[in-house]
Formats: sequence, C-alpha cells, structure tokens
Amino acid sequence: MDHDAQHILETLKALRAQDAPTHGGHVMSYVYDSGRTDLDSLAARAMELVQPVNGLDPTMFGSVAHMERELLTFARELLGGDHTVTGTATSGGTESCLLAVKTARANHRGAGPARILAPTSIHAAFHKAADYFGLALDLVPVGHDGELDPERLIERMGPDTALVVLSAPSYPHGALDPIQQVAAAALERGIDCHVDACFGGWILPFWEGLPPWDLAVPGVTSLSADLHKYGYAPKGISVLLTKNKQRQRGQFFATTNWPGYPVVNPTLLGSKSAAPLAAAWAITKYLGTEGYAALAEPCKRATSVLIEQINGIEGLRVLGRPIGPLLAVVRDPEVDADSGVDPHLWADALAAAGWHVQMQPGYRQPDGSWLERTTHLTITPVTESVLPELCTALERCADSVRGSHTPDSEQVLSALGIDFAGVPEPGALQQVLGALGVSGERGALPREMAPLLGLVEALPRDISAQLLIDLLASLVAPEPG
Ligand SMILES: *Cc1c(COP(=O)(O)O)cnc(C)c1O
Repeated sequence: MDHDAQHILETLKALRAQDAPTHGGHVMSYVYDSGRTDLDSLAARAMELVQPVNGLDPTMFGSVAHMERELLTFARELLGGDHTVTGTATSGGTESCLLAVKTARANHRGAGPARILAPTSIHAAFHKAADYFGLALDLVPVGHDGELDPERLIERMGPDTALVVLSAPSYPHGALDPIQQVAAAALERGIDCHVDACFGGWILPFWEGLPPWDLAVPGVTSLSADLHKYGYAPKGISVLLTKNKQRQRGQFFATTNWPGYPVVNPTLLGSKSAAPLAAAWAITKYLGTEGYAALAEPCKRATSVLIEQINGIEGLRVLGRPIGPLLAVVRDPEVDADSGVDPHLWADALAAAGWHVQMQPGYRQPDGSWLERTTHLTITPVTESVLPELCTALERCADSVRGSHTPDSEQVLSALGIDFAGVPEPGALQQVLGALGVSGERGALPREMAPLLGLVEALPRDISAQLLIDLLASLVAPEPG
C-alpha cells in the first residue's frame, strides 16, 4: 500500500498520460474540447466549491436548487421552451433519455403493452430505456442516407404508442429527423414526442438554415440536451426539458413507505454529486448565448472544410446530409473494389497515426435493408486549429488502405468451427477473441479494431453483445489474489 499523496497523484498522472488525449482535437468522439482553458479552470473551481455537497437534497443544499433552476431557465430559453416547460438536470444524455421514457410510460393511457416508436437511428440509450422499463421498441427503417421518411413512422402510430422519439441530429449519421411532420401527427393522436437533442442541443441553435426542431415545434413534449457535449461542461450533466408540469410528475419517484427519510427523486440516482451541475452552471453564466454562438463558428467552418475534403478522397464519401458538427463517412459505393476505402481500416490507420475516429458497424434494419458500416467524426471548436494536419492524415491514411478489405468475419467463424446459431459457450467467445488477437486478459485490447467490428457485424446481435460484455468486464476484473 502506498500512503504518500504526492506519489499517488504521480501514479494517476502517469496513467492519464496513457489515455487518449482529451484536448487538442485528436480524439473525434467522446470529448468536446472548446479549446478554452479558461472554461476548464472555471469548471474545476466550481466543482471544488461543491465537492462535499449531496445533490440528493436541494432543501438541505439550496445552492443545488439555485444552480439547477438557473441552468434550466437558460436551457429553456435556448431551446424554444415557453413558461409551460419545466425540467431536470440529469447525469448525462442516457439518464435524460431513460427519464423521458419513464415519464411517457407513467402517462400512457393507451391499450396494450406500451411501445416506443422511433427510427432505427435513435441512440442506443432508448434501447436501454426499453430494456430497463419494460417497453417494446418499434424501430422504423431509415434510408441509406440515414434519413427518415416521416410517413413510414406516422403510419405505425397506434394506441399502444407511449412515446415517439426523434433525433436532432441522429448520433450515427448526423441526420435531422422530420420533427415538424412527425410531432404534428403525434399531437393529433395524443401521443408524446421526445426530441433527443443530446448531441445537438447546445450547438444547433447556432446552426443556420435548419427547419424548426426544438420545443417551439407543436407536438414536441420533451427534449434532452447534454451540457457535457456542446455545453463544454465536464462529464455528468444534461438537461431533460418537459412541457407541462403535470406530465413531468411521471418522471419522479417518491415514497414514504419505508422506515427511513421520505424519498423524492426526480432522477435515477439517490445521493449524487453537484459538481457537474456547478461546472455547467458556471460555464453557461460565463459564456452566455453569445459565448456559445462564438464557439459554434469554428465548428461550422471546420465541418464544411472536412465535408469537402473527405468527399474529395477517392473511395470515401460523407453519408447523407449531416446538419451539425458530426459526419459519418462511408465507402464510396460508386467506385470499384480496388478504389474503395473501407472506413474501418481507414479508422485503424488514423488511430496508428494518432487520430481517433469512431467505427460504427454495418446494421441490418428490421425490413432487411443493410446500412453500410461507417466511421464517425465529431467536430469541436478545436478541430479548426488542427485542420491542416488532420486533412493530410485523412488523405494519407485513405491512400494506405485503399483497395484493402477487413478479414471476412464469416470466414473467421467457420475456420474456427464455431456455430453461433445456439447459445454460445463462454469458452467459444474467448476463442473468437483469441483469433482476433484479443486474449480477454486485462490490457490486451487489439491494436486494430476493424476485425472486432467486422465480427460484430457478422454475429447475431445478442451474441456480439455477450462477447463485448465479456471483453469489457475482463478489463476491470479485480486482480487475481
Ligand atoms: C450522447 C448521446 C446520447 C447519450 O448520452 P450520454 O451522455 O453518452 O449518456 C443520447 N442521444 C444522442 C443523440 C447522443 O448524442
């Protein structure tokens, strides 16, 4: 054991040095770098001030209620809400989405088991919500460009639909769903409609030329927007805004039916940190609407440069019509195999060169249509400052893998003689991981991720989920005794 504080912190610093870089624009997912050190230090000071506070009880810690009220007021004004809109600060996008679903389930009066109706491009957080809260998920296929035909969704609305979910924009493809049309149809039928603006909520208000998508749209009943994305706050903060306080009451859990203190929880957690809330509150005060508008400018410029740049690379192209600082890149379907660039091999080459972009596997939609694998790039205010190096890397890495193919996962599986038709043995999963160069032991992640993603594409979905659970769990399994 090590009781020297200095040494402990040195150890942590050394560990952090091995992480992907959170600043500087080399990681194009997960982190949203404003490029402003003043925001980071303001957030750190705000977090330190509330470090010992328990956000569970805003009657005891009035600072929490004060900050949350002001943050929600700011969010409501930014996102088209009027005085009928109320809200809650949550721990992140997933929690906002879970709570939107819980609320809809509580308010649902229709017949039969409740359903969530949404395009296939909605965030996986809604799959999680359906799983946790026992709702069916009715997914409507999107086009090959990631766009939803509103009629395909509207015709599936029924008395068992508890909630319609749309994205602004969708995480996989950056598409803006047809919010006006769908929300109007939901309103006519008395169905709630949630806009998942977890990604876009703090940046689309400053993006020109978009059709209306926020709380001002008739029929939209709730909206989620993450402060820990384009709000530039540290992780752990999002808001869920809901029209009509009566509706929002369904979000709460309260009980006096135990021998302890009376419990009233608007969110999933009990005791909780006030640190991310304090950081977000401080940053929104400090930046104001003008500050956010200014930070959106480099994002817009860098996004249009990157779209043009990537569309100019032989064998790649930007999918669909992304409407925010997020691109999905796909193999150009117009070119022959020798000139095509596999977006996952491209991503692996970029990772080796120090640029981290996110692989998204191909996906079979419920109607059998296939959405091609893509690579996802999130553009942040710092991206512009690294554009020359980034553009060079995008091009060189495409050159280095043009015409190459990922190992065919079906072949890997049959070579191993593994049949995934039935229930997999845990040993079988280990064997597959081994064949992919992943031993399953701590720290032994594959250098190249494309083969693993290829396997995800090839395997039945519940099996690939099992495989990934094993992999992730092994990373943090306690040391052998
Ligand atoms: C990020 C995101 C979420 C989930 O948010 P987390 O903060 O990762 O929990 C949900 N929906 C969309 C569109 C997102 O971009």
